[in-house]
Amino acid sequence: MKNIRIEPSSTSLCPGPATGLDTAVQDRFSLIRRLKAPVWVFDIDNSRIVFANAPAFTLWQANDEQELCARDLSQNMSPAVKRRLQQYQVDFIEYDSVFTERWTLYPNGQPTSVMVAYSGIRLDGGRMAMFCEVLDGSEAEPENIRSAEALLHTDVMITQYAMDGDLLYMNPAARNAAVGSQHVFSDIFMDRTDYDNVMLAIRNTGEHRLVTQAHTGIGARWYDISAKRCLDAVTGKPAILVTATDVSELKVAKDKARYLADRDQLTGCYNRNYVQQHFETLMTTNTGKCALLYFDIDKFKTINDEIGHEMGDIVLKKLAHRARKLLRNKDLLGRLGGDEFVILLNDAASPDDISNLIDELQRAFGEPIRNADIALYVSKQSGRDQATYFNEEIGAIDKERRLIEADIRRGIAHNEFILHYQPRVHLQNGQTVSVEALVRWEHPDRGLIMPDNFIPICEETGMIEDLGKIVLDIGCKQALAWANAGIDMGVSINISPRQFQGTQLMDALKAFTKTPGFPRHKIELEITENVLFGDHNKIAEKLQEIVEMGYRIAIDDFGTGYSNLSYISRFPLDCIKIDKSFVSQLPVSGPIIQLILTLAKQVGATAVAEGVETRAEYDWLLAEGCTQVQGYYFSKPVPLLQLQTSFDANAIKTAAPSAKTSNASNA
Ligand code: C2E
Ligand code: CA
Ligand code: CA
Repeated sequence: MKNIRIEPSSTSLCPGPATGLDTAVQDRFSLIRRLKAPVWVFDIDNSRIVFANAPAFTLWQANDEQELCARDLSQNMSPAVKRRLQQYQVDFIEYDSVFTERWTLYPNGQPTSVMVAYSGIRLDGGRMAMFCEVLDGSEAEPENIRSAEALLHTDVMITQYAMDGDLLYMNPAARNAAVGSQHVFSDIFMDRTDYDNVMLAIRNTGEHRLVTQAHTGIGARWYDISAKRCLDAVTGKPAILVTATDVSELKVAKDKARYLADRDQLTGCYNRNYVQQHFETLMTTNTGKCALLYFDIDKFKTINDEIGHEMGDIVLKKLAHRARKLLRNKDLLGRLGGDEFVILLNDAASPDDISNLIDELQRAFGEPIRNADIALYVSKQSGRDQATYFNEEIGAIDKERRLIEADIRRGIAHNEFILHYQPRVHLQNGQTVSVEALVRWEHPDRGLIMPDNFIPICEETGMIEDLGKIVLDIGCKQALAWANAGIDMGVSINISPRQFQGTQLMDALKAFTKTPGFPRHKIELEITENVLFGDHNKIAEKLQEIVEMGYRIAIDDFGTGYSNLSYISRFPLDCIKIDKSFVSQLPVSGPIIQLILTLAKQVGATAVAEGVETRAEYDWLLAEGCTQVQGYYFSKPVPLLQLQTSFDANAIKTAAPSAKTSNASNA
């Protein structure tokens, strides 16, 4: 480093020999004044020239040194140039660097291209300034000047390394971003394998391009790097020319877009879309074994209904997290929607390993979700930034639920469930063609409990298989008793989805067919549309088997469920029960009912309108050609012993003259 001391930005120093400097320095300055090449000292901090020899002030088109030193050069300086000069200052301080660059100066607005050597020089007080020395005053070709300028000012980082990685050249942009001006090529790579790949490709094909994370002066950044083998113009030896642009913002935006497109935002699991695509590629490319596990959360609807969707979200997140922890990196966890998850195991191990994993998952899911999570949620609900203790009410809901389950189990064991029957009436003659068996719970303490209060719990817990078996048993025995007494009366029995899927139903139905005199054609099984959701072939097979045993099939609550009509013709259906919501909305819902009536006729099924409460509804249905109805207008579901009274009354009702204004309903 040159050790010439000059008073900082003191104009009294300029022009003339630097006063107050020691004689040796002044001597050297006077020598510099005699040089033919322009030489000046630039005070980076103040953007002023503090010393210039005569060729220098001529180059800058100033009358004398004093006039030049008075110029504020920051006026027309771009921020990029300012930053670059500051970087030079750091490099002078830290590395005693010397640069040679072609610069275009703009004395009085006139572009003048010169080759300048820069080095550090300390001012009085120790501040680092820049010693500038014009190397070659000869005019360069315009093309060269422009290309040199472009290289200086571009944001693209251009660096040249020797084949062993030693640094040969950096343009200002590269210098600005580099961790230090003395690094080697491998230093910029955060991931060593990326560097190895680049070098391998350079040796094999001469070039490589990649996006990689780089060490820079401002921390880790994403660089789009292009590296090419070249010859060093100075030594003629093989070298590497590296061009880099900072693509961090782009990369982050792109990654974010990818993440948003592929992931479920709540749990961070892959979404349905991604799973589907991934599954297809996996199936076509993977030669090893894959396994697909599918799971959902028991009673998830209850969590949402009773403690809110936010708690439901917490449960989903927790369970997804627990599942993820048990999986390997190469396995995929996806959320298909709601509480449905899927796990895709790549290179699945033995069936034993898979069943072990299932056990582990079940154990992990079974762990209680801590009270602290609930408290955290409550805290956030009440406006954040506060502490909340576990809310006991929340815990109480779960406890209550478990008590009801135990109570139902006890009720089943103690035969507390009974059937009421609701007549289904022929529209024209008012005759009861059949009855629907509807279960009730005769609770020793709580009195008669309606099915909506316990059927869903039985369905969720699986107790519906036992309860359904009881209902089927009572209903079938009643049908047999009527048959034996010579009474022509059908019995409809509701079958829940889970019961339909289970094994007990088929066994029980088979067993009844063996009973002598059993009127199997009088037994109709009511299933809802959601029973038909799933593997159509399997369902059709099962329905066919039931029909072949001689039982009848009805679709219950028609129009409210799974809206794929294809099953209507695929499955053997004897009866379609029009949901009561349509009947209660008459006459607005008229066109829908007409449509269902036509549909039923087309497939040869009997149409039954449910929930008929008024004479007006009855009249409308009669006029439209509906043949059977069920509803409070005729009778509410009643205990067996009251049925006969109800049969007699129904016949009277249909015989009565039509009165559009009549609103009589059976109370
Ligand atoms: P569902 O199968 O649609 O049964 C008809 C329901 O509508 C019965 O309610 C009945 O009382 C009611 N209902 C009949 N006529 C009218 C009317 O004119 N107006 C109105 N507003 N309602 C009418 P219930 O007995 O409370 O049964 C409710 C549901 O519980 C049933 O709906 C059925 O899905 C289920 N369920 C009842 N018994 C059983 C059973 O033994 N097994 C299964 N799996 N489910 C059952
Ligand atoms: Ca029903
Ligand atoms: Ca129904």
